[in-house]
Order: sequence, then C-alpha cells, then structure tokens
Amino acid sequence: MLGLGLTLPRPLPTSAELTVANEAAAPARGSCGTWVTCSAAGRGEGHVTRGRLSRERPKMVAAKRALPWLAASLRPISSTAAGSLPKQVKIVEVGPRDGLQNEKNIVPTQVKISLINMLSETGLPVIEATSFVSPKWVPQMADHTEVLQGIQKFPGVSYPVLTPNLKGFQAAVAAGAKEVSIFGAASELFTKKNINCSIEESLQRFSEVMHAAGAAGIAVRGYVSCVLGCPYEGKIAPAKVAEVSKKMYSMGCYEISLGDTIGVGTPGSMKEMLSAVMKEVPVGALAVHCHDTYGQALANTLVALQMGVSVVDSSVAGLGGCPYAQGASGNVATEDLVYMLHGLGIHTGVDLQKLMEAGVFICKALNRRTSSKVVQASSRL
Ligand SMILES: [Zn+2]
Repeated sequence: MLGLGLTLPRPLPTSAELTVANEAAAPARGSCGTWVTCSAAGRGEGHVTRGRLSRERPKMVAAKRALPWLAASLRPISSTAAGSLPKQVKIVEVGPRDGLQNEKNIVPTQVKISLINMLSETGLPVIEATSFVSPKWVPQMADHTEVLQGIQKFPGVSYPVLTPNLKGFQAAVAAGAKEVSIFGAASELFTKKNINCSIEESLQRFSEVMHAAGAAGIAVRGYVSCVLGCPYEGKIAPAKVAEVSKKMYSMGCYEISLGDTIGVGTPGSMKEMLSAVMKEVPVGALAVHCHDTYGQALANTLVALQMGVSVVDSSVAGLGGCPYAQGASGNVATEDLVYMLHGLGIHTGVDLQKLMEAGVFICKALNRRTSSKVVQASSRL
C-alpha cells in the first residue's frame, strides 16, 4: 500500500489510466483484479489523481491526527473502490483445533473450553472445536470428548470436529458432534506423510465416513490441504486440486475448504488455483484456508473474495502451524481478517473487541505473543 506521505518513485496513474490497465489485465470482467490496484493507489480518499492527492495531503494529515486510527481505518470504503465483493462472509474459526494442535505443551482442557466459550460470545458462526484423531498421532487432542462435552453450545453456532476415519467419526458422534470435517490433500507425498496412505486410499476412507454421516444426518465439511504448495512436492498443479475437490464434493461434502497449509501461495497462484477449482465445484461451496508463512494470507484471501468465495477459515491470534511442514505459520489471525472485512464494509457478525479479548486470553494461557497485527498495533496505542 502506498502511504500518502511517501515520496513516490513515479507519478501515480490517473483513474482513466488505471481503468484501461485493469481492463487489459483482467481476463474476464468482474472476475478479478481491479480492487488491489485501486486500493493501492487510493487508500485515503478513494481518488488517485495527482492534483487531488497533493491538495488533500495536509487535510488527511490533520484528520489522521484528530481521529483514532481504529475508527478511521474501519470506515467502509465505497463499493466502487472495493469492486465485486460479497456483502457477508462466514468465518470458520479453526484456532481451537488447527491452532492448538500445533502447540508443543499440552494445553489444559479447561483452557480449551474457556477459549471456545469466549469465541462463542463473539458472534462467530462456526468454531472447529477439536479433532477425533488417535492420541498417539496428536496427543494435544486426546481430550477431544471432554472438550466437546464441556463447552457451552450457543444457539446458531456450529462446533464441527475433525474425523480422519470411521473410528474417529463414531467417537465424535458418541460425544455429541453434529458436524464433522474430513481432510485430504492435493499432494500424494503429503497425504502419505500426514495420514499414511495415498490420495485414492484416503478418498476411500472418506467414503466410509460419508456413508455413516449420511445415515446419521451429520453434515460433513471437506478440507483439501497443500492447494498452493507442498513441503515435499513443491508446486501443486491446479488441475490436481480441482480433481480432489470435485471428488470430495461429489461424495457429499457440503463445503470444500482449500488450504494453503504451508502458506507459500500468492494472489497469483491463488487466482490460478481457484479458477481451476471453480470449474468443478460451485463457488458457493468453497472456502479458503490461508496460512501466513510468507505474509500473503490476507492478500490471498482478498483475491478469493473477489472471485466470489464468501467462507474464510482463520485462527484467533494466528495460532498454529503445521506439524509436517517446519516453519509454517498459523492461519491468518481472525482479528486481522475481521478488521479487513469490516474495513471493506463486509458483514461478519463478529464483535472485534470480544474477539481480541479471546485472543489475549489464549496467548496469556500459552505464554506466547499474538500473531495478530491488529492486536499488536492496538496494544501499543
Ligand atoms: Zn491449517
């Protein structure tokens, strides 16, 4: 983003120049791309002509001094500047599962329960509560039954749990799960290392779970990992992601969450991958799940929103990583995601203040620093 007070390396383009450039760059009108350019050029007042910029600079400086940062930045920008974006976004909070499962020290069950209860107070519609994996594989999630049964279930909030196989599914249902998630990957080697089977075998395991879920009236969400890169295979072909997504959707998953598990994607690779997947799965059934290893998670999410995706996974305080990909950061912080969405005038139903309090609570309990930029910035103000 260009700041208004920066010395510009070259003159800013005019609105007309931007329009021409964007139309030339965009393969299909309305499907992509105009917002990033407009935003970068005109964050302040939404206009980019050189004359206006220099005339308004003193006014902007004064306004910034007079107004609290948070309130000014959260002002929704005009829909013209934002391009085509959803009016509402469903946030799927994955911190208690995707985040905490990567913590080395076992987190006390009561801390997990308190965190989920605090998150339920924020207005989040979906909170992934835990994972019914074998404690041998993921000791951190060994208390899954106690967590699922110990949390307060808020009306209107879903508490899905991860179930890798039929055994996990049955244990989850016995503990009261009303929704489950299954997880596959677009990479053969990652699947092998993560769940010790081939992609094809993993799909067969899923079909057992899907069958049992259908009989029990339980909704199933599907994760596809490594959609923008794999620690073992490197780049993943968008066609492969589309193929796996299509299979999981055809099996009956109501939603497919596309995970940049190691956080190596860029807005460019996100756009390329989504374009391929959207040919096979309706965009209304897609979610994105971006880890922030290379600092691209918000930008990648924004591209997905521009392409019509309206479900985004995130993790309070940016908790998490990936046990099979050393150095991978957690998901995009939910606080930062909410801040961006509200700044775009997109409805989430989430109370940012309460969310920040939940993030502070878990960071204190884990004795770690928040990965949320919003919380870091706010605590300095
Ligand atoms: Zn993840």
